Amino acid sequence: MLRKFKCVEGCSDCCNYREYYPSVEYGKIGVLILPDEKFRIEEEAKNNNIRINIIPRLGSGRKKKGIGPKKILAYQMMGKKKNGDLCPFLEESNSQTSSHIGLKCKIYENRPLACRAYPIFDDSKGSDIMLDGKCQFCKSCSTTAHKESLGDEIEAFTKIKTTFCREATAEIWRYATAVGEDETRPRFFSEGWVLECT
Ligand code: SF4
Ligand code: SF4
Repeated sequence: MLRKFKCVEGCSDCCNYREYYPSVEYGKIGVLILPDEKFRIEEEAKNNNIRINIIPRLGSGRKKKGIGPKKILAYQMMGKKKNGDLCPFLEESNSQTSSHIGLKCKIYENRPLACRAYPIFDDSKGSDIMLDGKCQFCKSCSTTAHKESLGDEIEAFTKIKTTFCREATAEIWRYATAVGEDETRPRFFSEGWVLECT
């Protein structure tokens, strides 16, 4: 049976924990930031007196000289813990709650598109939507949800997809972050660009 999507009470997991993607070798990823969001998010950080670290995430084409892409397609805002977790905009006290019900996002109204789109994983199906299996809603209820309960998330997801489709080229680069748990560190690529396909 199709469920309506609703955040699990008390959960802030998607703001708290970061994953290794696409594999441990690349290190943990940060929150996806599109190029036209970068300045706005940096301004939000300044206005809230919060230190953030935004590094590249995806690129396309190839530099004429040297290693790396001609164009940066996306950036990522890294977690503030040494192991890559914990978004710098997440309120650490549990005295306040947000519409995600868990801890408060200090820039909730102006949060990045990626945060607005989560937990949509794939919107290619008909009336139901595939959700990220790591989301607590999926763990406790279902990995699909009814489209009608995900209007804002679908809109944000579509904007991100459209940006990437427009910029797609044969050569895609992914930035290895070299960030994660100490025990996985020996497996990491050095921080920097890795050419994914030619
Ligand atoms: S989207 Fe999922 S992981 Fe994120 S706060 Fe809601 S239930 Fe938790
Ligand atoms: S910007 Fe806000 S919504 Fe996005 S990960 Fe950080 S705390 Fe969560």
